Amino acid sequence: MSETLLEIENLDVFYGKTQALDDVSVSVDRGEIVGVIGPNGAGKTTMMDSVAGLLDYEGSITYDGMDVASVSSRELIEEGLVYCTEDRDLFPFFSVEQNLLMGAQFRDDREAVQEDLDMVYDLFPRLDERREQEAETMSGGEQQMLAVGRALMSGPELLMLDEPTLGLAPVIIDDISDAIERLLDEGLTILLVEQNSTFALRHAERLYLIENGKIELSGTAEEFKESEYVRDAYIGVT
Ligand code: ATP
Repeated sequence: MSETLLEIENLDVFYGKTQALDDVSVSVDRGEIVGVIGPNGAGKTTMMDSVAGLLDYEGSITYDGMDVASVSSRELIEEGLVYCTEDRDLFPFFSVEQNLLMGAQFRDDREAVQEDLDMVYDLFPRLDERREQEAETMSGGEQQMLAVGRALMSGPELLMLDEPTLGLAPVIIDDISDAIERLLDEGLTILLVEQNSTFALRHAERLYLIENGKIELSGTAEEFKESEYVRDAYIGVT
């Protein structure tokens, strides 16, 4: 079994004539959490969309040894590559539970689905309290929990989280933090994209900094915290 679960190599992506990613290489090993930080418009979502099979690209992306370009988005989900998008993409008029079950739509093992439903409610008690509530009437933080919960219902091996803290109050960010730490303890692999560098540095073992579509820096969380450039531009002088 290969240690590397996701390997992005020399990725180039264009929107028309505009290049959004330039020679991006990122790897994620089994069981680790890798952070990708960078400012607005740097290309973070473009990278995630490419991995999820939503964009054409040049270069190579392999997930668990599979070339992602050669398999469908559904197959990728069934193989455990699950993407929780920045937009959350909830079904607004469905209840919390219906949204969660939509995450499990490709799974046949009803017993395992029920176990995961219990696990999600245990992870996010707020969802448990609101099983029947329509998604659109939930707060932003609750909707984010629901989006993460629904992704977990797909049975991920690699969970890709795009800006899970965007617009959330600190107390909710703490709930998301706790959930991430629990999931890591259980062996999940996570690729975390964040403009919120402090949050990414709190969790990620290794990080990449992306600016203007290029990887400008990669290293361990310690190396990032010690980097004067990262401190000045992304964390502020502490
Ligand atoms: P944010 O944190 O604001 O979401 P990001 O790092 O995720 O930013 P992307 O959304 O990947 O950045 O955008 C990278 C670049 O590609 C930006 O210049 C953006 O304007 C451009 N871009 C993104 N999507 C499209 C599109 N569908 N058509 C044209 N250009 C796009």
